[in-house]
Amino acid sequence: MVTPMSSRRLAEIVGISEREVEDHINHIIKSVARDRSLRFILEPCECRHCGFAFRDRSKITRPSRCPRCHSESITEPRYSIERCGAKQK
Ligand SMILES: [Zn+2]
Repeated sequence: MVTPMSSRRLAEIVGISEREVEDHINHIIKSVARDRSLRFILEPCECRHCGFAFRDRSKITRPSRCPRCHSESITEPRYSIERCGAKQK
C-alpha cells in the first residue's frame, strides 16, 4: 500500500521546489497513462470550509479558492501510483 503524498511533502523529501515537483508529476502522469499496468491516483483537493471536492480537476496544483463558498482554505492534492494486475511472487 502506497501512502498518498502531496507535492510539498515530496519536494521536502527530494530537496527540490514544489513547482519542480509539479513539472515532474505532469511527465509522470503522461508516462503512467501509457502504461496499462500502472494507475495514477489523484485524491481531489477539498474545501476545508464547505467540503467542496475538486473532482474534475486534472492538474495537481492547488486551486486558489473554492467556487462554492470562495474560501481560500483548500487542502493539498495528494497522489499515488498504483500497479494494477501485477503478479505477486
Ligand atoms: Zn467551499
